[in-house]
Amino acid sequence: AQRIVVKVGTSSLINSNGTINRSSINGLADVLCGLKRSGKEVVLVSSGAIGAGMGILGLERRPTRIPEQQAVAAVGQGELIGIYERRFAKYGVSVAQMLLTRDVLLYPQSKQNVSNAFQELMKLNVIPIVNENDTVSVEELDHMTKFGDNDKLSAIVAEVIDADLLIMLSDIDGFYTGNPSTDPNAELIPEVTNLNQSILSEFAGGKGTEFGTGGMKAKLNAAKRVLENNQQMVLANGKDPHIIEDILAGKKVGTLFR
Ligand code: ADP
Repeated sequence: AQRIVVKVGTSSLINSNGTINRSSINGLADVLCGLKRSGKEVVLVSSGAIGAGMGILGLERRPTRIPEQQAVAAVGQGELIGIYERRFAKYGVSVAQMLLTRDVLLYPQSKQNVSNAFQELMKLNVIPIVNENDTVSVEELDHMTKFGDNDKLSAIVAEVIDADLLIMLSDIDGFYTGNPSTDPNAELIPEVTNLNQSILSEFAGGKGTEFGTGGMKAKLNAAKRVLENNQQMVLANGKDPHIIEDILAGKKVGTLFR
């Protein structure tokens, strides 16, 4: 794979006390800058703005009101990008902040603009760091501006830049036959080639099943989009970001959707 989108979830970036997990950011910097050096094009989709904002504002619990979430995300986004910026600079790599909303990608003209910006950043050897623009996209405006989640956002970014591979890092080793946190018999599925409606509803939040939280459902929907675009996705455990190197080396880790 030459052009890669890496998505890291909140679970990989934020410690249980709400603070940013610096060792995981260090690991990401190490791996992604290494990929950059070997000539690959890399885009990072990163959550974590609310967590970072909680740390700065000294909040102990995640805000529940939407305007509060927006405000905390706005505080945290700068901090988050600042941490990435300093870490990646140690490897001589610059980063760019790209905050997107869903409506931008619904209109051909603005979608083209976003695509142009990505192309140019990649030419400049910069790593774009994408997140949803939380101050604009709130849940009430779901249909217009909200991607819903960064899983979907990462699939859309993969589409816009015509990526070869989307690597989705989570707190789980891959896609299982059931939710491993409730089903002791759940087994890892190494490869999914046919992501049809029945798998989607059976394994990820379909009615009457014990499987699937919103979390896995969002990942499967992202995978569906990736497959429809004839691209590939790997879902793997991001506790050590060096797993990205194993994935690119063709080792059998996580779940490959192809
Ligand atoms: P992230 O914050 O990394 O985006 P999520 O918490 O949204 O991750 O989703 C990952 C979680 O989904 C896992 O930790 C697991 O508890 C849950 N899950 C539900 N169903 C499945 C399944 N079939 N296979 C794997 N994980 C599942």
